[in-house]
Amino acid sequence: MSSAALTRLQDGLAALQADHLERRRRLLDGAQGAHVTIDGQRVVSFCSNDYLGLAADPALVAAAHAALDICGVGAGAAHLITGHHRFHDDFEAAFARFVGKPAALLFSTGYLANLGVLTALAAKKGEVFADKLNHASLVDAAQLSGASFTRYRHGDLSQLEGQLAASTALDKVIASDLVFSMDGDLAPVDALLDLAERYDAWLYLDDAHGFGVLGDGRGGLTARARASDRVIYLATLGKAAGVSGAAVAAHVSVIDWLVQKARPYIYTTASPPLLAACLLESLRQIEAGEARRARLCSHIAQLREGLVDLKLGALMPSDTPIQPLVIGANADAVRASQALLQHGLLVPAIRTPTVPANTARLRITLSAAHSADDVAQLIEALHALG
Ligand SMILES: *Cc1c(COP(=O)(O)O)cnc(C)c1O
Repeated sequence: MSSAALTRLQDGLAALQADHLERRRRLLDGAQGAHVTIDGQRVVSFCSNDYLGLAADPALVAAAHAALDICGVGAGAAHLITGHHRFHDDFEAAFARFVGKPAALLFSTGYLANLGVLTALAAKKGEVFADKLNHASLVDAAQLSGASFTRYRHGDLSQLEGQLAASTALDKVIASDLVFSMDGDLAPVDALLDLAERYDAWLYLDDAHGFGVLGDGRGGLTARARASDRVIYLATLGKAAGVSGAAVAAHVSVIDWLVQKARPYIYTTASPPLLAACLLESLRQIEAGEARRARLCSHIAQLREGLVDLKLGALMPSDTPIQPLVIGANADAVRASQALLQHGLLVPAIRTPTVPANTARLRITLSAAHSADDVAQLIEALHALG
């Protein structure tokens, strides 16, 4: 190992630190939830994606214990060898039925699912059309697919239409976050579907933040999109579902094609089947989760009303559990986040380059596991800062 190579890395790390862009992991003890112990401090957490409070729910924990006795810990092989367990298969069927699509495929993570779908559908001669605010995993997937990669301004459908009209690619895929992860707003699903139909494209919708929360838990698909053969739906299962993994739901032939072609599905060990057993229980909790969703909605309304006249910054328009408070400069957002932590409130500062310059923000996420009092505390502390 040449030491010059190592020195370059160390210089790079020092530069990140100097620019306040160094990423640091906080250390969690115990279980995920609204109240957590992080870096040894007991805090109210406003940054998890555990929107329904299912990550440590007793029913899911019991499902894990029960499954352990049946299937052990490891899957032992890839799905196409001997790793495809009945729990995986049962979950796929239950998920497809729940979201109203003919078939589904369970991937180990959302990142891998995005990579698998875009590489399998677009490949070398295809073209992927992507909203500029899509999640990093969709960006990476499009780039790694080898397809042409064309991005349109956030929500700008006339720019997208121009790009589709100009395309000579045979296989076209419009890929979009359904709920945008840093802004909390929704993609215009039916208008995207209109364009997909007009230009014979697939519409791939990543509903990482909508599944479990929107549409009685079924996510953000419209009735038309649910019924359309050209819509491919992704739910990640480590967020509101509280477990891990991601499920793609689509026409049977799309799912069959993914099993043949999606390398991140084929060439990796199946996820532990006990997780699929937990997911089956999670699906039951989501289906019967009206009370959780009502609590979450009431927290969203409480926060938005409470911060109407805040001096520090303004909430972006969002009806989802993602409630970004735009501060502006990186350093100001970081200072606000640190001050909240001194009040025992954990709210991350999201900075450039994750979000555009001068839109550094506190990314508040709410959960059904919060109490009205937790939300009131956050509102009060933010007013005290401003
Ligand atoms: C979190 C997220 C992913 C990645 O899902 P994982 O299961 O965590 O890998 C993909 N897309 C969006 C929009 C996300 O927010």
